[in-house]
Amino acid sequence: MGADTHCPHVYGIANVKPPQVRQCDECVKTGAKWVHLRTCQSCGATLCCDASPNRHARAHAQARSHPVVASAEPSERWLYCYPDDIVTEY
Ligand SMILES: [Zn+2]
Ligand SMILES: [Zn+2]
Ligand SMILES: [Zn+2]
Repeated sequence: MGADTHCPHVYGIANVKPPQVRQCDECVKTGAKWVHLRTCQSCGATLCCDASPNRHARAHAQARSHPVVASAEPSERWLYCYPDDIVTEY
């Protein structure tokens, strides 16, 4: 995993953006629940993961063409690229 991948999106990230909030703002608006949080590495938005009912991080990535998220969970250090479907530890 990671070192031998050829994802230009993850390759272009020099510093991983940490989450600014510990919630999915889109879920909060509607009172929805989320499972885990992901932080967009293009704009810093923190949204919910694919295991969450609303998958706001994936919807955001597709709508804005922001390809890479980082796990916003404190114990996890990895990046995920939606278009390439690649997980990279850092
Ligand atoms: Zn990529
Ligand atoms: Zn959400
Ligand atoms: Zn974004």
